[in-house]
Amino acid sequence: MASKGYDVIVAGVGGMGSAVCYHLARRGKRVLGLERFDIPHTNGSSHGVNRIIRLAYYEDPAYVPLLRRAYELWRELETGFGEQLLHVTGSVDASARDGEVFRGSLHSCELHDIPHEVLTGAELNARSPGYNLPADHMVLLQPDGGFLLSERCIVAHVQGALEAGGEIHARERVLTWETTAAGVRVETDRGVYEAERLVLSPGAWAGSLVPELEPLARPERQVLCWFQPSEPRLFRPEVFPVFNLTVPEGRYYGFPVYGIPGFKIGRYHHLDEQIDPEHWDREPNAADEAVLRVFTERYMPAAAGPVMTAKSCIFTNTPDEHFILDTLPGDDRVVLASPCSGHGFKFCAVIGEILADLAESGSTRHDISLFALSRFASTPD
Ligand SMILES: Cc1cc2nc3c(=O)[nH]c(=O)nc-3n(C[C@H](O)[C@H](O)[C@H](O)COP(=O)(O)OP(=O)(O)OC[C@H]3O[C@@H](n4cnc5c(N)ncnc54)[C@H](O)[C@@H]3O)c2cc1C
Repeated sequence: MASKGYDVIVAGVGGMGSAVCYHLARRGKRVLGLERFDIPHTNGSSHGVNRIIRLAYYEDPAYVPLLRRAYELWRELETGFGEQLLHVTGSVDASARDGEVFRGSLHSCELHDIPHEVLTGAELNARSPGYNLPADHMVLLQPDGGFLLSERCIVAHVQGALEAGGEIHARERVLTWETTAAGVRVETDRGVYEAERLVLSPGAWAGSLVPELEPLARPERQVLCWFQPSEPRLFRPEVFPVFNLTVPEGRYYGFPVYGIPGFKIGRYHHLDEQIDPEHWDREPNAADEAVLRVFTERYMPAAAGPVMTAKSCIFTNTPDEHFILDTLPGDDRVVLASPCSGHGFKFCAVIGEILADLAESGSTRHDISLFALSRFASTPD
């Protein structure tokens, strides 16, 4: 394939890369998105029907302004695409009273004036009987929480990018890249391309394209199960809010029944298995199912029927579980993105805008100081 000049090349067209292609193309930039697998595909971090979006962010209140912008952008995207992408169910953030999930989500709500209710576990169980939480658990119920149809979001961003004049190639793997006097040069398994700027959004493969990220963006195996509820009416989106819940067994997240006739459940950091994304065991097994079934039997017993589907997926974790959104140290022509640590998808729309800003001008109006690469300067192992 002949080399051709672009304003920006985006390496990796998954959740984040599709969003940055969309924003750049709509700004009139000549953008080329390169994806090694299909669009969308099931080898990375963004598949499995849906992802939770929640506003009462326990991780840090600094995420809340980004979430507010993400909600606006998701709504704009679905209007242009003509398909609903964001389903509002309300969200439950729950833990023991002194647990960080309850305390942190309450703190974000108070600081940012986010509508919410505080309930005990017993009160939530009465209101939403799919739940069987410990009676004295503390629950923050936030009405704007819900889920995004993640693979459809990628399709929507890619379709919008193409309609705005962007160029996107699937099944084309970036092998190497370098900065040159003129900009950047990218070599793939199909050709060589040049551009003024490069956005690297390779998800779990960050370490192979960016040596600086290798010790900081660590891939981890995750497994999700969909269990068939014995009482499906308790797990409809209208009556069962998405949840992010800490119990003595760990921190779990789950969804009402949608897309697959099963209740979807996952455990953060599943079995703590670090992996090489080129060679890992993708097939869910009995031990994977067991850790999710034990939780479901205890805390959502009417959902703990036969398994309907199980899928593996990859988290890419930073040491502090906050994202990396920055330019390459010493060269702002190269933009780095590692926004996962198990909670990045809901931000794709706004991160696409941020990465487009960084690629255009090296800066953004959004506050991304929490995500600077320099915070790890003294800690890589
Ligand atoms: C099981 C699971 C549950 C999750 N739940 C939630 C949730 O409920 N809510 C939430 O907000 N977040 C959640 N997350 C996190 C969220 O899904 C991720 O933050 C998000 O998907 C990351 O998007 P990404 O673009 O970085 O990665 P991906 O979507 O995987 O995209 C990276 C892309 O780069 C491509 N690529 C890599 N190397 C190359 C190369 N050399 N050349 C070309 N292309 C390349 C890959 O093929 C891939 O398509 C979850 C993640 C997992 C795994």
